[in-house]
Amino acid sequence: MTPSLGRTTFQTKFFLAAFSAAVIALGVAGALFATTMRRQIDERIEATLVAEARLAADLLARGTPFANVSEPDEEADRLGQLIGARVTFIAPDGRVLGDSSETLDGVAAMENHGQRPEVVAARETGLGRSRRYSSTVKIDMLYIAVPVKHPAIGFVRVALPLTDVRHQLQPVLTATLAALSLALLGGAVIAWLLSARIGRRVRLIAEVAHRYRQGDLTPPRLGFGDDELGTVARALDESVQEVGRQLAQQARDRGRMEAILAGMSEGVIVVDPQGRLQLVNDAARQMLKLEKAAVGRPYVETIRLPAIAALVGGVLSGRTREALQLSPPRDPSRTILATAAAAAGSVAHGVILVLHDITELRRVDQIRRDFVANVSHELRTPLTAIRGYVEALSDGDASVEDSRRFLDVIARHTHRMERLVKDLLRLARLDAGQETLDVIACDTRNLAETVIADLASAAEERGQRVEVTIAPGAETIRADPTKLHDALRNLVANAITYAPEQTTIRIEAAPSAGRVSLAVSDDGPGIPEEDLSRVFERFYRVDKSRSRDPGGTGLGLAIVKHLIELHGGSVRAENVAEGGTRFVLTLPT
Ligand code: ADP
Repeated sequence: MTPSLGRTTFQTKFFLAAFSAAVIALGVAGALFATTMRRQIDERIEATLVAEARLAADLLARGTPFANVSEPDEEADRLGQLIGARVTFIAPDGRVLGDSSETLDGVAAMENHGQRPEVVAARETGLGRSRRYSSTVKIDMLYIAVPVKHPAIGFVRVALPLTDVRHQLQPVLTATLAALSLALLGGAVIAWLLSARIGRRVRLIAEVAHRYRQGDLTPPRLGFGDDELGTVARALDESVQEVGRQLAQQARDRGRMEAILAGMSEGVIVVDPQGRLQLVNDAARQMLKLEKAAVGRPYVETIRLPAIAALVGGVLSGRTREALQLSPPRDPSRTILATAAAAAGSVAHGVILVLHDITELRRVDQIRRDFVANVSHELRTPLTAIRGYVEALSDGDASVEDSRRFLDVIARHTHRMERLVKDLLRLARLDAGQETLDVIACDTRNLAETVIADLASAAEERGQRVEVTIAPGAETIRADPTKLHDALRNLVANAITYAPEQTTIRIEAAPSAGRVSLAVSDDGPGIPEEDLSRVFERFYRVDKSRSRDPGGTGLGLAIVKHLIELHGGSVRAENVAEGGTRFVLTLPT
């Protein structure tokens, strides 16, 4: 195929093929027709000539013998005139006696015709025919010779120039050529119309295929037709649409999976059977400090934790591995639980590594264990004391005075346990969300006064004064009065406990950045900076030996924090520059 033909469109090729087929078919048909016609005309002319020769022979046989030597030539001229052909009379010995196309002198000069093929054949078979060049008239002629029953003439020969024969054929050939040309023109038009139609359809299919290749799978608006081309195009189109649907479904599934993986707090890493990272979600990337470019690279190069590399390697080599706990790189405070398993049940699909950050779980578990240990410890101390004094009393040796003292101690410890259990129950209720809020606008001064009245005897005992200052804008606080009272009471009670005797405790309310703050400050020893944030933890005490004495449960501030956070507020402890501690509750208005 030449390059120019290579660029020829399908329509042109189809047209050329159809037109060539039409040309060949019409050419062959025309040639056959022309040959057949030519043969038939030839045969008819020949048959006519034969009939004319026979007629002339018959006429001569019936006629009278010629009187003189010029008579045969005249007769030949007359007959030739009549039938419109060359007529020659030949004597049995071959001499020419008369010829319609020669004068008498010419006839006398003509050579002997005895060996002319038509004459030889006429002599032998009664009819001779021949097509050849006439040396007499110098053109190709068709000769027919028949024997004559005549005393002087042996053969009559009738001849027609072949140009005459061809002249007779010409109109037939011209008509045939004209018909062929017309048929060819019609064929060209039909071939062009057909090729244009099929070309249009092929172009439509090619355009659709091109569009599909670009990724646009919108089905074509026009149909493909009902023939084989349409059926094939439709079958391919349906296959592409089906593949497109499946690809879209896969993309949706992948998107969903990626969204799930991205939203997971667990780290997920997929390693292919060749040990290259196939997928790393954000959580895994953060936990193991992996770069984005890690995907596609071998896990042994990218995961720099030997324990995890060994875990993945173990699963890849078909060994099952226990889950392991480890700390991520450069972050020893965190704990990660790593588990690895063969993807879809076979390592041929790779390995899935799941990383679970269990730091919080472990912290909560630790808190729970510490809490149980603390509660047990807090209960054991008073119980041991009570048991000791009860045993001392049951001995019966104690004096009345001692017995009263023992009973006092027992009562104090019982009271302490009672408070502890009460505080624990309250915390449990708060943890379980069983305490609901009943928020109203509370009068701040009234709230402070009630707390002071509650604790008046304790403060009086220690010679302490409690001052209340309400700044404008903080006259009312929106809160659950009972719960806010409990929180404030706890803070003031702590101040009374921890501040020295004869000092002043201040309750100050002031608006602050759209909220209201309620502060309780004292002139006490303050709280070491490192403990400030921890005093709200359960059972946390700054100085255990000292605080055991005042009989606190270690739960008071934890309850305060809970109660204030229930209101949507916050609580903080700070040291005052002049000495002493300040607890600040901030509540939404
Ligand atoms: P407790 O029942 O022991 O008072 P809290 O939860 O109320 O428990 O307080 C926790 C710890 O915070 C106390 O043990 C104490 O060490 C410290 N603390 C609380 N209030 C004050 C304060 N006003 N001055 C100094 N230390 C305080």
